[in-house]
Amino acid sequence: MGFGGIKNYNSEAQLARAITESWVAKNMYCPRCGNAKIIKIKNNRTVSYFYCKNCKSEYELKSKDGPLGNKIRDGAYETMISLITSNQNTDFLLMGYQGQYLKVKDLVIIPKHFFVPSMIEKHHSISSDAQRAGRIGCNILLQDIPRQGFIKIIDNGNIIEKSKVIEQLTISSELSVEDIEDRGWLFDVLECVNRIPEQEFSLTDIYFFEPLLAAKYPQNNNIRLKIRQQLQFLRDKGFLEFNQRGRYTKIKLK
Ligand SMILES: [Zn+2]
Repeated sequence: MGFGGIKNYNSEAQLARAITESWVAKNMYCPRCGNAKIIKIKNNRTVSYFYCKNCKSEYELKSKDGPLGNKIRDGAYETMISLITSNQNTDFLLMGYQGQYLKVKDLVIIPKHFFVPSMIEKHHSISSDAQRAGRIGCNILLQDIPRQGFIKIIDNGNIIEKSKVIEQLTISSELSVEDIEDRGWLFDVLECVNRIPEQEFSLTDIYFFEPLLAAKYPQNNNIRLKIRQQLQFLRDKGFLEFNQRGRYTKIKLK
């Protein structure tokens, strides 16, 4: 790709943002509907938003020099929490690139309905300007997201087939829950299900995670009931099958 006109950027961060944005505008399709292009919304100077003309989906692009790792920096903490709790946040495209010439190593989409407040960590800025303004930034904790909400588009330099990305995103949409507290429980229990290596499991297997959930929800004194409610939700949505021997079989949960 060409690098014409890059002289006018006064910081490396701005330059990187311009390059990653132009990469997305040139190469990225809409992962929700498959439309060939998504276009940059030009109304914000500090955040990169893209938009699909066909299905009206919006995406926020975050990029990082190096591997995506366990967390990624985002804007103001309070803003992010209020967007999530009011269901106004957008899908996120996370890009990990390498080197000055921006080789895209990783590109991931996190669907908007996978965001919960507990995956947003406060980050106190080291810049003295920001400190004076009392501005608190945030990190998005990527390791807390169940893999169904961490959909790879480019994986370590390898491009995942477009149809596969769209299919995974469509399946993940069925896990959309509006109520924030219910959503938190669903994804916590889904993460426990994901950690069971076998395709088939029993209630005893999933209750193994009870202490972990009890530590996260100390005010709740019926963790097992919560677990069973989430399993029922997953069963109703066709992600689990409950068979006669009292065991659950994973369906659509790769
Ligand atoms: Zn679209």
